[in-house]
Amino acid sequence: MLYRVGRKVLSRNPHLMVGVFGGVAKLVPQGIRYGREFRKTRRFLQKSQWWTAEQHAAYQLAKLKETIEYAYYNIPFYRESFDAHGVSPDDLKELEDIRRFPTMDKETLLENYDRIHALEGDNLMEFCTGGTTGSGVWLNFEESFRQREQAFIWHNWNRVGYKHGMLAAILQHRECPPDINDGIWYMDRVSNAMILSAQRLTHESVEQYLKVVESNGPKVLIAYPSLAHLFATYAKEIGWKKKVFDLVLCGSETLYDFQRRHLEEVFQAPVRIHYGHIESCALFGYCKESNIYHVQTEYGFAEVLRENGVPAEPGESGQIFGTSFDNRSVPLIRFGTRDVAKVGHGTCVCGRNYPLIEKIEGREGDFIQTRSGKVHSPIVIEFLIDGRVGFSDLQIVQNDLDEVVVRVVRAANFTQEELDLFCNGLAERLEHELVVSTEFVDEIPRTSRQKKSLVLSNLSR
Ligand SMILES: [Zn+2]
Repeated sequence: MLYRVGRKVLSRNPHLMVGVFGGVAKLVPQGIRYGREFRKTRRFLQKSQWWTAEQHAAYQLAKLKETIEYAYYNIPFYRESFDAHGVSPDDLKELEDIRRFPTMDKETLLENYDRIHALEGDNLMEFCTGGTTGSGVWLNFEESFRQREQAFIWHNWNRVGYKHGMLAAILQHRECPPDINDGIWYMDRVSNAMILSAQRLTHESVEQYLKVVESNGPKVLIAYPSLAHLFATYAKEIGWKKKVFDLVLCGSETLYDFQRRHLEEVFQAPVRIHYGHIESCALFGYCKESNIYHVQTEYGFAEVLRENGVPAEPGESGQIFGTSFDNRSVPLIRFGTRDVAKVGHGTCVCGRNYPLIEKIEGREGDFIQTRSGKVHSPIVIEFLIDGRVGFSDLQIVQNDLDEVVVRVVRAANFTQEELDLFCNGLAERLEHELVVSTEFVDEIPRTSRQKKSLVLSNLSR
């Protein structure tokens, strides 16, 4: 009974189990969260992380073949699409052959979802892809696939130093009951985590947050980069000097270098992140030794493609496309994420032989567009922000092709001169194609899930 209730609650409230720490975690039996598939995948990853490059490639080819064959013989959408492109599973003999198969964008997934998802039944869990543009779609996953997903996430977290049993502080989207601890935090014993309220985090309340964190002693802060950065900014503004975390773990948004440096300075702890989506076709994560993304080759097949469809070379940037492995319910093949990554060089010093991604330059909806057709990633802004102290928070909003608005939350030592410098620098980086105007606000609005992009584009691409 409990199992059924847990599954039903999660099915209707999918956001609750996007992370390991679901809001209704106590209703969910361990069998769902850490069942057989979870344990099996964890054991597998313990070994596969030390594979040679050849072993990774052989595994990827075998899994790609399995995915392509499954899709072709079980899902009419793929059969029609492959036939129209004149390709069949037999054409996949080497990894490079995947380029003969068609790519798929989000619109195609939305329009054809009924013909793409392959399974029906009770053992499916529904998750919404969300996204900043409101173009979310509900996807059905098998429970075993979600367990596998959790195993990959925990493997990534373990790799950067966060182990089961360590007390964590979580600053994400979960609301805190207003009648407990002034609505600032509560202890989730099932998840072994202090849940911090994003809604009540302000310059005035931050000292209370820091003191409660100091007295409870969580080892790790798990947060969206923008929220972690806001937390650190307020902490710095009140002159907080003590070290309260051993590790800061980020996810779900782009982590910019200026944010990472600021977090490392204020919290005096390493900052690590992983990159992934609900669509579950690509996963990249840092290791303990470096600030660089390792492409998780056992998870899916990731490609970084330039606009002409040619793979980006090391040092070049392109859109991330992913092909899912082991997803029998919604297999995605060469799915365009609209996220942009820069390909890394060589292999990591940690000794693992995963391909590397140097940085994620922007995620969907993070880009500034101009009338001449240029697209600027938020990287153009991060150089301008670095080191500035007069802004508690900031966001660039684009509503049309002629103007961007800089929303600013002023810090105590704000000066108009610093803001003018920032705006002039931005106009220059955008090659004066857009007017840069400003707007003072008390706080930057967040999405219902408490996310915030450095650049918020309300234009469609
Ligand atoms: Zn490494």
